[in-house]
Amino acid sequence: MTGPFVLPVRDIAHRSGEMREHELEVPAPGKWGEGLVAVEAGEPVDLDVRLESVHEGILVSATIDSTYRGVCGRCLTDIAAPVEVEIQELFAYPGSEATDFEVQDDHVDLETAVRDAIVLSLPFQPVCQPDCPGLDPATGERMATSTGSHDSEPIDPRWAALQDYTPDHDDEAPRLGVENTEES
Ligand SMILES: [Zn+2]
Repeated sequence: MTGPFVLPVRDIAHRSGEMREHELEVPAPGKWGEGLVAVEAGEPVDLDVRLESVHEGILVSATIDSTYRGVCGRCLTDIAAPVEVEIQELFAYPGSEATDFEVQDDHVDLETAVRDAIVLSLPFQPVCQPDCPGLDPATGERMATSTGSHDSEPIDPRWAALQDYTPDHDDEAPRLGVENTEES
């Protein structure tokens, strides 16, 4: 039995109470996820695994860390974010009641359990930031909330009009003053 997520359990099988811990870093063997974001093939997947021998088989507990990549569901910007999930699955000895997972040839293969847990935890509507403003309905451009990269854009026409009324028009203020005086 081979595979990136296969662990040996020969030394604890049928010895209830025995426990082993493993740390793995495995590249994802394929793309996990079909939505806007996915864990891409080759993305490192970190596992902290605890194998416990119990009466029915091997109880596998694992914390899984990886990174999903894709696009924001609102503005289509590329995003990447960490994903962490925990699993606990019983790998039963062969011949026991039907279970999802079995100990095979003194090994357990965690790949299906890990993949399914990751895929289920991926967001259906991922966003680049919680308050992503999405796309401008007029231009189709991203409605940026930040900073710096838009200095070269033309001034909004509404503000351009106001620029005609800046305080350095020397002839404006005295005239206003005269009007105010007449009214009072
Ligand atoms: Zn966004």
